[in-house]
Amino acid sequence: MISKAKFHPSTKQLKEFAAGTLSGGMNVAISAHVELCEVCRHQTSEFETKAAIDWLQTSEETKSSDYADMISNIICQPQQKSGGLEGSPSFTEIHMLDRSVSLPKALAKALSNGLVWKKLVGGINQAKINLDDETQCEFIYMKPGSQTPVHKHQGTEITLVLDGSFSDDFGQYERSDFIIRTERDVHQPRSDEGCLCFAVLDSPLTFTKGIARLLNPINNYRFRRSAAHRTN
Ligand SMILES: [Zn+2]
Repeated sequence: MISKAKFHPSTKQLKEFAAGTLSGGMNVAISAHVELCEVCRHQTSEFETKAAIDWLQTSEETKSSDYADMISNIICQPQQKSGGLEGSPSFTEIHMLDRSVSLPKALAKALSNGLVWKKLVGGINQAKINLDDETQCEFIYMKPGSQTPVHKHQGTEITLVLDGSFSDDFGQYERSDFIIRTERDVHQPRSDEGCLCFAVLDSPLTFTKGIARLLNPINNYRFRRSAAHRTN
């Protein structure tokens, strides 16, 4: 089940993942990749160990102010993260459209509400899921022989390949590959054999959320967000 990824999250993303500071959507995407990728699993546990040691070496004064934040991070951490890092990954078999695909646990959990597929141009199907206020998360299913229009993004788009393969102007991607595209990249993904992906886009519409975050204590914000997740 494990394939060797050629494309991985950046070091910065893995550090933020280990520190628990990523948005919900990005956290799920990296968590799912980490389940599939031994290299990143190893790297993440090293970052986690280092973060723990750093924290133990900080002064008591800093510790107490960090403590609430740390607790909030722990509360915020989806359970799938630790599950994904311990032992061998397990998968949930689910049926999507005309294919049956094994999902990493992190994504299987995110799917508890099911998916509503929407047809886009060029044989592309999209199913959005709501994981946080800061990103747009979606499953993308490209039918065999499909091609998206040439496009670029506002902000960053990451794509995790879950099944099949696709290619764009920069390369060929297969299961477990984690592709990062920024606003500088113009590309046209296409898939000969069909492909199921999970994508996370930075929403350009985070401005008001940013203000809201400034107005609200960050811990409350995080806590409300994780509480909302639990009731969803
Ligand atoms: Zn990796």
